[in-house]
Amino acid sequence: MLPSAPKHIAATHRQLTANSPPTHRQLNFQHMKKVLIIGAGGVGRVVAHKCAQVPEVFGEILLASRTKRKCDDIAADILTKKSRTIQTAAIDADDVKATAALIKSFGADIVINVALPYQDLSIMDACLEAGCDYVDTANYEPHDTAKFEYSWQWAYQERFQKAGLTALLGSGFDPGATNVYCAHAAKHHFDEIHTLDIVDCNAGSNGLPFATNFNPEINIREVTAKGRFWKDGAWHETDPISVGTTFDFPGVGEKKMYLLYHEELESLSKHFPTARQMRFWMTFSDNYLTHLRVLENVGLTSIKPVTYEGREIIPLQFLKAVLPDPGSLGAKTVGKTCIGDLITGVKDGNVKHYFVWNACDHEECFRETGAQGVSYTTGVPAMIGAKMILEGKWKKPGVWNMEQNDSDPFMDDMNKYGLPWQEKVLNHNPLAGIDA
Ligand code: NDP
Repeated sequence: MLPSAPKHIAATHRQLTANSPPTHRQLNFQHMKKVLIIGAGGVGRVVAHKCAQVPEVFGEILLASRTKRKCDDIAADILTKKSRTIQTAAIDADDVKATAALIKSFGADIVINVALPYQDLSIMDACLEAGCDYVDTANYEPHDTAKFEYSWQWAYQERFQKAGLTALLGSGFDPGATNVYCAHAAKHHFDEIHTLDIVDCNAGSNGLPFATNFNPEINIREVTAKGRFWKDGAWHETDPISVGTTFDFPGVGEKKMYLLYHEELESLSKHFPTARQMRFWMTFSDNYLTHLRVLENVGLTSIKPVTYEGREIIPLQFLKAVLPDPGSLGAKTVGKTCIGDLITGVKDGNVKHYFVWNACDHEECFRETGAQGVSYTTGVPAMIGAKMILEGKWKKPGVWNMEQNDSDPFMDDMNKYGLPWQEKVLNHNPLAGIDA
């Protein structure tokens, strides 16, 4: 069972139900909401820390995950670093009834889902059953097919609308901040967007021969899938990691990057129909790619079940079990991440080239939250997305991608809560001549 609400909050609820008009102090409590965070991995740790930093919005926090011990470790860290008590619970989020019951017993106003993409639909179902808003950072993937697309979650549009609830999809960095960057560019810099290249660089180093910087299973499924990009109204496929070029990342320097398919391309190509081309690029070191190729060649990245000593196992899940836990990499990781949107389009009849980005330092992220930069750059926008809904700025019934909301308050909060952005107008587009 959940621990009961802290005494001061329970007392305030009682006072607010009395007939006398609330005092100024009571009004502040009235605006405080309850957040349930599901998933206690690297990203869940950052979300919990960041929500704890904004008590005027996140009045009560419950962190729940499959393994309660991980929630308790994070809660202890938050108590030490931020002097704030958060509640914890065990939950299997594949179980809709149990998740809905947890939402109701805690009285959550919003759920931030930072478990795995496999849980998206069951948590959305639980939110509908319990009457609660929803935020996630990655779109739904079925366990048995390495395929991700928004169709499954967009199909919830009518149900969320009818229930008067908000579901915000993809509120991490990419997807997430990269979608909001695009909306910001469309609002403040362009009359028409023609090309978009999202460039993602993790120049961090953890001293290990091979480790992924977020959940290895999800990460390897993404990287080993075919590349895909949007051009002239159609999708085009490339072989995995077959198209590469270099890019000069601000604060990091020149790095090799490769064309991948990334989920935000699906919603952005839909919501910015003037775009002729949209692509996504991610940096990988030669060392990372060599390890990945070997693991692939020996069959360890496969999601087809194999029989081992009389029982069925999924090779990729076995591989995940022997690879370093990304949550443990924080203390070892040094260097920076740099992620941005490079856009060409038209403003006042003239061609314009524009770049907006954030650079983030792994060691600073670790000092603040005990997590490395990739978890940090995902967790901060997840907190801000929930804050936007709870403050009423992005509260509207239905299922929404990030770019369908006003970018201004989100961009302001990115500056305020640890992911400051920079922008510049360029005299040319450095990726213009690179064809896939
Ligand atoms: P981790 O694997 O470190 O953490 C996932 C957590 O979810 C673990 O604590 C795990 O529990 C828990 N979990 C898994 N299954 C269930 C379940 N059925 N019920 C309850 N809890 C469960 O992943 P990350 O923290 O690195 O990533 C979290 C999410 O963020 C992922 O969906 C990932 O795709 C997304 N992401 C998004 C990015 C973006 O920019 N948009 C970038 C990076 C990640 P246990 O510890 O018991 O296994």
